[in-house]
Amino acid sequence: MSRRKIVAGNWKMNLELEEAAQWLSDVDAGLNSDQCDVLVFPSFILLPDLMDVYEGEQILFGAQNCSHKESGAYTGEVSAAQLASVGVEYVIIGHSERREHFGETNQMLKEKIQQALKNGMTPVFCCGEPLQVREEGKQQEYVKKQLTESVLGFSVAAMAEIIIAYEPVWAIGTGLNATTEQAQEMHAFIRSEIAAKYSNELAQQIPILYGGSCKPDNAKELFTCNDVDGGLIGGASLNAKDFLAIVQSA
Ligand code: PEP
Repeated sequence: MSRRKIVAGNWKMNLELEEAAQWLSDVDAGLNSDQCDVLVFPSFILLPDLMDVYEGEQILFGAQNCSHKESGAYTGEVSAAQLASVGVEYVIIGHSERREHFGETNQMLKEKIQQALKNGMTPVFCCGEPLQVREEGKQQEYVKKQLTESVLGFSVAAMAEIIIAYEPVWAIGTGLNATTEQAQEMHAFIRSEIAAKYSNELAQQIPILYGGSCKPDNAKELFTCNDVDGGLIGGASLNAKDFLAIVQSA
């Protein structure tokens, strides 16, 4: 079955309003949206302004995080309902930087996914092993636990709304990407876990993106793997030209 490719830019805590608006205009001008779905994940504060200034239809907007709580006395948090209320349609959940620096646990991530789905947003759930786990050869066990504790308990209907991003922690921002063999092996494993829990039909529908030092010079190779449905791009998404080159590779 052929799944539509997705290329998503995770800007992390980068770009100010003017630079971000320029990026949108540059990327929009270079896109042909028939190629694949193009998503961008700016910081919370920029989202409403950017969605306002953006006049095109080819770029879809997402947030980099949302609260696992519904509403209330959680200073500094942003709820899924608030994001949905300004028209945000996607949200990254469980990025390794949030797991590492902000102590996000698999259980919290499950609650974040629930909040996102309840508010009609598509969660982009990140999973992936640290270097030590890869060196011990236990990466499948590790990712299986992340999936089982955060994702694989949802209903078929909920599961069908989720995008997964495999992002080996050792590849994020390091310049060291997974090989096509490593990426394909893990993506096929993730798909087989979904098939085992739900059905092969559902597993074949779910987009699984690769993230981790994906760049113009390695994107094409990675995206040709059978089970790699595009990429979640960090560093290389900040430069409109590089990002567009990655989109062309899809
Ligand atoms: C990311 O932050 O999701 C990511 C993949 O980063 P980078 O592309 O910079 O490795």
